Amino acid sequence: MASPAKKKTTKNFPTFDAELNETICDAYNNADLTLTLKLGFRQINPAGGAASGTYHDYGDATETARNIVKWTPGSWSRWKTNFVSSAQRYWHGKFWLINNFPVLEFEDKGVKYRHNVYCRFKIIGADAATGTHHHVIDVVRLAGSETFFGSHSTLYDSRDTVSTHKKTDSAGNKIMQRAHVHEIGHLLGLGHSAEGTSACPTSGDTNASACYGSSDSEMNSVMGGGMTLRASHAYAWRMAIAAMTGKGTIRKPSDNRSWAALANMLGTSYSEADFTSNDWEAMTKRHYPRTEAEVTANAAITRRPSR
Ligand SMILES: [Zn+2]
Repeated sequence: MASPAKKKTTKNFPTFDAELNETICDAYNNADLTLTLKLGFRQINPAGGAASGTYHDYGDATETARNIVKWTPGSWSRWKTNFVSSAQRYWHGKFWLINNFPVLEFEDKGVKYRHNVYCRFKIIGADAATGTHHHVIDVVRLAGSETFFGSHSTLYDSRDTVSTHKKTDSAGNKIMQRAHVHEIGHLLGLGHSAEGTSACPTSGDTNASACYGSSDSEMNSVMGGGMTLRASHAYAWRMAIAAMTGKGTIRKPSDNRSWAALANMLGTSYSEADFTSNDWEAMTKRHYPRTEAEVTANAAITRRPSR
């Protein structure tokens, strides 16, 4: 029996675009699922065209005012390029989703395989005034003397790409983070690492310090104060593949995200009950396409000798 035609399919979600590419599938290569975030960046400059001025933390007039300086064409261009390339590199190619369904199947040299999903990531960054964007991000350029600025997922500062001391672990080691990769996690639908625990109830302020974690594991998470990526952070890819194949429901990650925030990201008719299983389970190392026998045996194929 002939294999079905290999193809590319796309689906545009409210907060990112997705492309599923089956044209590269063979005995060794899974299907690619690329999520693309289109970000529009907007300069925040000192008032009245001045070279320097102030801007409030979180853009909130009741918070502390910080010293900022005017963007120049060179500093703006360099900041955007560095932001896009380093955030993309952090999130790209880190997850494999395990396929338990009779989809993404075809034959290679007479053997039928069921393909897993390799998670790719792309950021398209542009000036907010041109094109269309999933998110518009305001950016302040901090003065050299300024040591802190209160950022959030759509308000960044020029030093958010620089590694900063955020937490201290139980052994006294500094936990460092480049804040922009954390903010991209929010744009991919993730909450803080301790969100939903008793220390950080989803009904409260999920930006409170306790929400960034109290255990070493929570604090080291990229959705806490560190740089550690976990399988639970593959949420957006899992949701996208379930929506694109019409197969499977997805476990709500235990360490992040209220249902209300997920529903906001999905923009579709899902209910919380759709997110209670373990379909399209995320792995943080390569898992090869499986034969039907391997699927039936629930084998994890992390090596596949060449034939
Ligand atoms: Zn955050």
